[in-house]
Amino acid sequence: MYELQCPACNKPSHYNFSDYLLLCPFCSTTFRLNQEDGHKEIYGDHYIIPNTIDGATGKELALEWLRRLHHKPGAVEQEFFVTDVKGFSIPLWIVSLEGHTSWKGLVKKQNRQVIRNSSSDYLMETGQFRRTYRWAINARNNICETWGLTRLHEPPEPIHVEWDGFPFDSTFTRGRLSDEEGRTAYEARNYFEFKYSNGTPILGVQVNEEEGLRRAKNQIELYHYKLACLNADYLIDYRTELEVAGIQLTHVPVWKVTYMYRPTGLLRHVQKPRERHLLIDGYGKGVLSGELALVYHDKVMINAYVSAAASLFFLLLGAMWHSAFLLIALFCMGIAALSIFTSVKKRAEKEEEELRKLSASHSIDRDKKAGTKAPARAS
Ligand SMILES: [Zn+2]
Repeated sequence: MYELQCPACNKPSHYNFSDYLLLCPFCSTTFRLNQEDGHKEIYGDHYIIPNTIDGATGKELALEWLRRLHHKPGAVEQEFFVTDVKGFSIPLWIVSLEGHTSWKGLVKKQNRQVIRNSSSDYLMETGQFRRTYRWAINARNNICETWGLTRLHEPPEPIHVEWDGFPFDSTFTRGRLSDEEGRTAYEARNYFEFKYSNGTPILGVQVNEEEGLRRAKNQIELYHYKLACLNADYLIDYRTELEVAGIQLTHVPVWKVTYMYRPTGLLRHVQKPRERHLLIDGYGKGVLSGELALVYHDKVMINAYVSAAASLFFLLLGAMWHSAFLLIALFCMGIAALSIFTSVKKRAEKEEEELRKLSASHSIDRDKKAGTKAPARAS
């Protein structure tokens, strides 16, 4: 930390020089310092999206989300405990750009069973698609410092996301629990001022503009390559051209909620409470990303533990008392274990089905709002 005078209001303050941009705590001016000659340059394209929630609202939003996913909404208050609610304003580089991709590939002919890959089974097709984005890149060095910020992009297409950037508008409109349609987060932004964070800490800007731009371009090229692959069975050629309209820095409010699951009933004694997380948009109140407490695998494992413990007990009983008990006990054990297993399996399947429905409805909302279309196939 070094002391420095703000180039706008001239008041001295302490700054961390490893940050790419410095923020004056008195007048909220954003500036760059050239460390060699001490020259200060004011940076104007800095915005902030106001934070509209506090810790209590964050907690209530998390519980509401859990109630929607739980098979017994009334039991949520007894079984789930919010242990931590933290809000902050993260800096994002938002790159406005248009990506135009053309592709060429072999597509399997319809109504024909391909037995071997012969040339007559495929048609050569070409196509192109164009998409515009406000692509967001985290301006913090460690993208893992906050849970959930590494994979925010949830595209409607069946592709595996390998990048941390995301289209800003569709991401920050998803997962809203209430139907109130207000301005989008992007429309609600203001020129940067500390007061709009409403008490949440403002994280420093560590990644520079050039890197933000380069990462956005790399990620969109990779995304468009994967989109092109969906069109053809064998993608032969493709080309993506990117037109950058602008880049700006925006501080965005995000809340991380940590919760624990402690089931009532038998499960309480075998299930070790584990921390789970939720990421909430601090402006639109949508759930950006969330971890479910108990998944199918966990339930099966719990049953395995219960069965193992019980069979041990019956084995002991059989050995100590009469060997005939051993056989009967084991037989009963088998039936009990099987019935528990099927009931739990059914319940887990039901929960997963609900989760799928919920996430499907989110992606429909998202498409509607973002106005994006699947890449058209030219024929
Ligand atoms: Zn100042």
